[in-house]
Amino acid sequence: MTVNLLDYDLEAMTAFCEGLGEKRFRAVQLFRWIHQRGARRFDDMTDLAKSLRSKLADVAVVQPLQVLSEHRSTDGTVKWLFDVGQGNAVETVFIPETDRGTLCVSSQAGCAVGCRFCSTGHQGFSRNLSTGEIIAQLWFAEHSLRASGQLLPGQRAIDNVVMMGMGEPLQNYSALLPALRTMLDDHAYGLSRRRVTVSTSGVVPMIERLQQDCPVALAVSLHAPDDHLRDSLVPLNKKYPIRELLAACRNYLTAAPRDFITLEYCMLDGVNDSVEQAQALVQLVQTSPHNRALQGLPCKVNLIPFNPFPASGLHRSPPDQVKRFAQVLQDAGIVTTVRKTRGDDIDAACGQLAGEVQDRTQARERLALRRIDVPVVSATAAAHQRGPSP
Ligand code: SAH
Ligand code: SF4
Repeated sequence: MTVNLLDYDLEAMTAFCEGLGEKRFRAVQLFRWIHQRGARRFDDMTDLAKSLRSKLADVAVVQPLQVLSEHRSTDGTVKWLFDVGQGNAVETVFIPETDRGTLCVSSQAGCAVGCRFCSTGHQGFSRNLSTGEIIAQLWFAEHSLRASGQLLPGQRAIDNVVMMGMGEPLQNYSALLPALRTMLDDHAYGLSRRRVTVSTSGVVPMIERLQQDCPVALAVSLHAPDDHLRDSLVPLNKKYPIRELLAACRNYLTAAPRDFITLEYCMLDGVNDSVEQAQALVQLVQTSPHNRALQGLPCKVNLIPFNPFPASGLHRSPPDQVKRFAQVLQDAGIVTTVRKTRGDDIDAACGQLAGEVQDRTQARERLALRRIDVPVVSATAAAHQRGPSP
C-alpha cells in the first residue's frame, strides 16, 4: 500500500525514512522538497540517491487534492474548490493583503456542530479531512501562487493560515495536529506560531490539548454573551458552557502569556446585537476585581457581519447597530474589529460553507463572503493588545 507523504509531519516522516532503512536526515530532505519546493515527483528530488528515489516511488506518493474550480476576484482574493471524493468538496480561500497573504483552510467536509447561522452547519457532517488533505490546501495554494510569478524570488505567498474554512478543526484533532506542526516547521512552511490560527466553536477539552501540543493563535466563536442565547446559536454550548469555555481560554494563555484570544461574534439582527448584549460581553471578558470568577480574559473581539442564507431565517445587523455595539466594547478598552467583505464577486466564503458537500440535510449551496478585519478602535487601545490579527 502506498502512503501519502503529505500526511506526515517531520516526526512521522523521520519514522517513515527509518522504516525504509534510511538515515533521519533524509526526512528533512524530503520535507524540504515537498513543502518548500513543491516537488511531487521523486525523480525531481535530485539530491536523493537514485536507488532511494525508486524505493520511494514504490511505496509512497505526494498526493495533492484535485482542483474542481478556481475563481479570482478583482480584489486579488482566490477561491479554490477541491474534490475530496464521494461527492464531497471543500473550499480554500487566499486573501492577499499589502504586506502578507492569508489562507483560509478547511478541516472537515461539512460540520457536526450545526450552528444556526452557519451554512456549513446546516449542511451536516460528511467526514473529517486527513492531515494530507488539510496540508494539501496550503501546499497547493503556496506553490500555485508562487508559480503565478507575482512574487519575488524566495518570497512566500502565504504567511498567515486561519483554520476558518469548513468544519470544526478541534473535532478533527488527530489530523489537525500534524498539519499544524508541518505549517510551523522550518523545513516546511516555517510559519510563526502566532500566524497560524485555529478557530473553534468551543471544544473545551481539545483547547486544553492544543495548548499542550501546539499553542498556536486561538480564535473562539462566541456569538453570544449568555448561555441561554449561545445554546440556541451554537449547540455545543450545552456541553461546554461559556464559563468553562472562557476558563479554557484563560488557561490557554498561560502557555503564551503575551498572546490574546480572538473572540468572534457574528452580528445577527435583533438576536445578539443590542447595546445591553455588548455590555454583557464586556462584563464577561473584562478584568475586574468584581469579576473574581472569571478574572478577565486578554482578548480582542472580531465582529463579523452575518452572511445570510435563506434556510437560516436570520438577518445581518444594520451597520449602525454594529457601530453601536463596537462602541460599547471600544469604550471599555476592548480591541474590536469589524470584518470587511473581500472577494464578493466570486462568492468567496468566510467560515461558513465553502464548497458543496454531499448533502445530508438537503441544504443547498450557499453564498459566501470572504472578510478581512478592520480595526475600529483607537491606536492607543490597540497598542495594549499585542500580536497579529488572524
Ligand atoms: N468551526 C470553526 C471554524 C470555522 S467557522 C468555528 O466555528 O469557529 C469560521 C467562522 O465563520 C466562525 O467564527 C463562524 O462563526 C463564522 N461564520 C459561520 N457562518 C457564518 C455566517 N453565515 N456569516 C458570518 N460568519 C459566519
Ligand atoms: Fe461548524 Fe464553525 Fe459552522 Fe459552527 S460555525 S457549524 S462550528 S463550521
